[in-house]
Amino acid sequence: MPKCVHCFNHGIVVDARGHRYECLYTNCSCNACVATRNKRQLMATRVAELKKQRNKAEI
Ligand SMILES: [Zn+2]
Ligand SMILES: [Zn+2]
Repeated sequence: MPKCVHCFNHGIVVDARGHRYECLYTNCSCNACVATRNKRQLMATRVAELKKQRNKAEI
């Protein structure tokens, strides 16, 4: 079961499922949460780029 990383940054363990919209730390700007968000964004960007490259390769 995935846990909420933002809550985990604050020492709280919560199931991430259905928790996204009620998380108190979603917009938290502490160092740990900012690092978490940056990491997630980086991953998303990388995946999008990979997908783009793959599409190009297929054409
Ligand atoms: Zn949370
Ligand atoms: Zn935080």
